[in-house]
Amino acid sequence: MKKIVIIGGGIAGLSAGIFAQKNGFESIIVEKHHTLGGECTGWDRQGYHIDGCIHWFVGTKEGTPIHDLWTTVGALDGVEIYHPESFMAVEHDGVTVNFYRDLDRLKSSWLGISPEDKEEIEEFCSDIKRLHSFSVPAGKPLDLMNPIEKIKYIFSMKDVGPIMQKYGKISVTELAKKFKHPALREAIASFMPEGDYGAISVLFPLGTFTSGQSSIPKGGSKALAKRMVERYLSLGGTVEASCEVVEADIKGGTVKGIKCTNGKRFEADYFIAACDAKVLYEKLLKGRYPDLEFEKRYNNPDTYPLASNIYIGIGYEGEMNDVPRTLKFPVETVDINQNQKPIEHLQMTHYGYEPNFAPEGHTVITFAINQFEPELDAWEALIKDKEAYAKEKMRIGEAVIDAMETRFPNKKGKLKLLDVATPQTYVRYCNAYRGAFMGFWPTISGKSLNHTGRIKGLDNMLLSGQWLQPPGGLPVAVITGKDTIMRICKKEKQQFVTS
Ligand SMILES: Cc1cc2nc3c(=O)[nH]c(=O)nc-3n(C[C@H](O)[C@H](O)[C@H](O)COP(=O)(O)OP(=O)(O)OC[C@H]3O[C@@H](n4cnc5c(N)ncnc54)[C@H](O)[C@@H]3O)c2cc1C
Repeated sequence: MKKIVIIGGGIAGLSAGIFAQKNGFESIIVEKHHTLGGECTGWDRQGYHIDGCIHWFVGTKEGTPIHDLWTTVGALDGVEIYHPESFMAVEHDGVTVNFYRDLDRLKSSWLGISPEDKEEIEEFCSDIKRLHSFSVPAGKPLDLMNPIEKIKYIFSMKDVGPIMQKYGKISVTELAKKFKHPALREAIASFMPEGDYGAISVLFPLGTFTSGQSSIPKGGSKALAKRMVERYLSLGGTVEASCEVVEADIKGGTVKGIKCTNGKRFEADYFIAACDAKVLYEKLLKGRYPDLEFEKRYNNPDTYPLASNIYIGIGYEGEMNDVPRTLKFPVETVDINQNQKPIEHLQMTHYGYEPNFAPEGHTVITFAINQFEPELDAWEALIKDKEAYAKEKMRIGEAVIDAMETRFPNKKGKLKLLDVATPQTYVRYCNAYRGAFMGFWPTISGKSLNHTGRIKGLDNMLLSGQWLQPPGGLPVAVITGKDTIMRICKKEKQQFVTS
């Protein structure tokens, strides 16, 4: 039986492990942290559970390939799906714009706000609807398809192709400017931070959301990862946790083994790096097998931006059934920077639909504030002074509570700070390059990466995970984990199986 060592037990590593076991390999996941799941996680504070990942989960619609994939890896076993009525609500000058799941409702509510935008609203809604026939491809990756499969694949994209072209060419800001009403403009613009981001980043989430393909698996991110761990172990996979891989031992283009900080060494026929790409190329391979596609992106962060988060958990002594699950509201005096400017909005998500995330009658709330260069540099510098770092986290947490009390005066005195994670938290726990929480973000000027994970010069090591395809996220992680095993099966000239 051939052996596979998987470096990293995030969603990509778990997916690779599950398919390795299903395909008759002996596998082990070597993970630096004491628990598996990587960025798909959550943590407990003061009787509350802070969900650190899933805000929307692509793959909740039965009958779609990505749903089948999540089911095969055990992620959705016996899980109830929560379907929020709105993707997000955005407040602007006393007007609330809702991105409703029901597209007709979205349309009529927007027409109610701005009848003079009728033409744009109808075009926008009709384009979102055209995406309903699209489902995330989760079968064979392109490089493994034969010509007939490729033709079928291209044909399956016939409705999506024109929409991708149309919205891939204009920025989110340009799309927003097509609308006359300032609240609609603001709502669309607020999908992405300021920058050269393609408007497709607005259309795709809304396409999957309004077609029922993305919702929320109840129980949260940590529980989802745990179900995958259980599936992996039940198939005979093994795990070595709290074990950071530091070096690959290479002879003549073949990886012979990997070495860990605790002195352990693992040998195998194949090695899958389901960890951060930068960790692979620079740390494990010591820069000796650079990848030009990745180099280009690392060296041009303006064209190929990546983002991390400040992630704040707050406990509220009360229920929030009257507030949309995800709400973006304007703030005036919060001294937190994004792209070197003070933020003008805060985005909160509450978990009122999760009874076990908070003590009875209470609600847990999270705030995510995207961080880009140069704030990522600032966090990198700040963590060197532990006291100043802790103080800054506290200051940010308190500033967010103040802003929330200004927006919701009736909640004053009932909010408590539970935790503040920073970009450096993701560096520390997941070895994430610059604390990135997805891959490279798609921009108009940047070319989309579609990487097979093969490493030039090495015949038995492959990269897997969120960095291989933009924008990353859970679907890319689970798909690329599977794809890596498909590629290994091809090399071994054996049929890939899913059951
Ligand atoms: C706040 C937040 C919100 C998010 N929201 C969503 C969402 O709503 N929807 C969505 O689809 N995605 C979301 N994501 C993104 C999603 O979590 C990630 O894209 C996905 O989990 C990445 O999985 P991965 O396996 O590719 O990488 P990771 O999760 O980074 O896993 C890599 C693993 O490798 C381990 N590792 C690293 N280096 C080593 C080493 N040297 N030795 C051993 N182990 C190592 C790490 O500890 C980690 O466990 C969110 C992420 C964050 C942080």
